[in-house]
Amino acid sequence: TFAFQGRHVTVAGLGVSGIPAAKALHARGALVTVVNDGDDARAREQAAELEALGITVRLGDGATLPEGTELIVTAPGWKPDKPLFLAAGEAGVPVWGDVELAWRLRGPDAAPWLAVTGTNGKTTTVQMLASILTAAGLRTAAVGNIGVSLLDAVLGEERHDVLAVELSSYQLHWAPSLRAHSAAVLNLAPDHLDWHGSMEAYARDKGRIYEGNRVACVYNAADRATEDLVREADVEEGCRAVGFTLGTPGPSQLGVVDGILVDRAFVENRQKNAQELAQVSDVNPPAPHNIANALAAAALARAFGVPATAVRDGLRAFRPDAHRIAHVADIDGVAYVDDSKATNTHAAEASLAAYEPIVWIAGGLAKGATFGELVARSAKRLRGAVLIGADRALIREALARHAPEVPVVDLDRTDTGAMLQAVTEAKRLARPGDTVLLAPACASMDMFTNYNQRGDAFAAAVRELGA
Ligand code: ADP
Repeated sequence: TFAFQGRHVTVAGLGVSGIPAAKALHARGALVTVVNDGDDARAREQAAELEALGITVRLGDGATLPEGTELIVTAPGWKPDKPLFLAAGEAGVPVWGDVELAWRLRGPDAAPWLAVTGTNGKTTTVQMLASILTAAGLRTAAVGNIGVSLLDAVLGEERHDVLAVELSSYQLHWAPSLRAHSAAVLNLAPDHLDWHGSMEAYARDKGRIYEGNRVACVYNAADRATEDLVREADVEEGCRAVGFTLGTPGPSQLGVVDGILVDRAFVENRQKNAQELAQVSDVNPPAPHNIANALAAAALARAFGVPATAVRDGLRAFRPDAHRIAHVADIDGVAYVDDSKATNTHAAEASLAAYEPIVWIAGGLAKGATFGELVARSAKRLRGAVLIGADRALIREALARHAPEVPVVDLDRTDTGAMLQAVTEAKRLARPGDTVLLAPACASMDMFTNYNQRGDAFAAAVRELGA
C-alpha cells in the first residue's frame, strides 16, 4: 500500500482519467498538482473545478516535472518518451497510469478482475464476458478502456462480485503491479507502434496482463505470439495456460466441434472429456473472429467457475455495439454491413473473411499501415472495391498489385458527403447475394469526427438508397 497523506502527487493530463484521479488523490490527503499540455476553454473550465477543491492546476505545460513530485499518475495515452517522464526517471519518481491507481485504491474485499487485451476484439469480448457473468447471477460490470472509468467502478457505491476489464496496451504499460484473477490476450498485430516504439515493446506491454495471474492465462492458439507471452509471464503457482481455437480443442483448450463451442480445459464432470457450452449460432454475429471472442470470454468466465449454461445464456443475450459488423439492411438481395470500427488492417481482414462475395468500401487514414497482405488474402472474395479518404492510394496500389481483376472505384473525395456516393457506387457493383461491407482498415479522422460518425453516414446512405 501507498500512503498518500501529505505526499506530492502530480497528475498528468486533465480529462476522463485525470479528473477523477486528481479528486481521489486529493480526498486521500495528497498534495495534488495537475499538469496539462492544453490551455483551451474546456481545460480552463475543468481546472477551475479542481482549483475550487484546493488542487493546483498548471495549464499549457505538461512537460515540466513540478518541484518535489513523489509520484506521477498519468493519463494512459501520454507517451513514455515525454520530457515529464524522462525527468521522472532521472529523479527516481514512479509513474502510474489510471489502471494502476484503481488497482492500488481498490478495497480489501474488492472484486477480482478478469482482464482482456489484444489488438482487436477487446470491447466485444469484455461485453460478452459481462453478459455471461450476469447470466450466472454475478454482480459485474464491463469497465476500463471500454469507456467506463476503472477508478469509478472501484471506488463507487455499487458492489461487484467480479469485474470484466478491458485494458489497452497504454494502460498496461503504466500498470506495473496489476494482478488479475485471469486474463486473455486475444491477438497481436502491429498497431500503435509509434507510441510503443517497436512491435517487441508493444507485445511486452500487452503481456503485462498475464503477470501474477492466479487461475488462468488465456491465449489464442492460432496466434503464437499470444502463447509466447504466457510462457514469458511470471504467474502464481497453479495458474494454467488455456488456449482457444476455432478448430478441435486440445486438452487444455476451448474450441469448436461440429458447430458447438466446447470446453476441454474446465470440465465439470470428469467422466466427460469435453463440456458443451453453446452453439455457434448462439454467437452474435457468428463470424469466425467473433466466435474466437466468444471462446475467450467463455474461457475467462469458466476460469471464474461459471457453469456452461451461463455461457450459453450470456452469449445469447449479448448484442454487439454499433458499428461492429452491424447488419444495416438488405436491398435487392444485397446485404449492407457496417464495420466502421475496423480501423486497422487486422480488424478489416477479420470482417472480410466473414463474407463472400464482397463489395468493399475502404480508406481513410492509414496510420503508417501497409495493405498488400490484407488485399492478397482477401482478393478472391472481392466483387469490387470503392475507395474513399486521404490514404486511399495505398489501397488502390495494393489492389492493382494483388487483385488486378477486381474493379475499383476511386472516389477521390474526402468530404463527408462522399459516403453517399461510395454506397451508390457499391450498389452498382453488387449482385444479389453479395455483401456491401464498410471495413475501412483505416482511421476515420480525415473525413469524420470518429468511426461512429463514419458508420452513421454509411447507414444513412444505405437507407437513402433503399427508400
Ligand atoms: P477493440 O475494443 O479491440 O477495438 P472491438 O471489439 O471494438 O475491438 O472490435 C473492433 C473491430 O475489430 C471490429 O469491428 C472487427 O472489425 C474487428 N475484430 C473484432 N474481434 C476481432 C478479432 N478477434 N480478431 C480480429 N479482428 C476483430
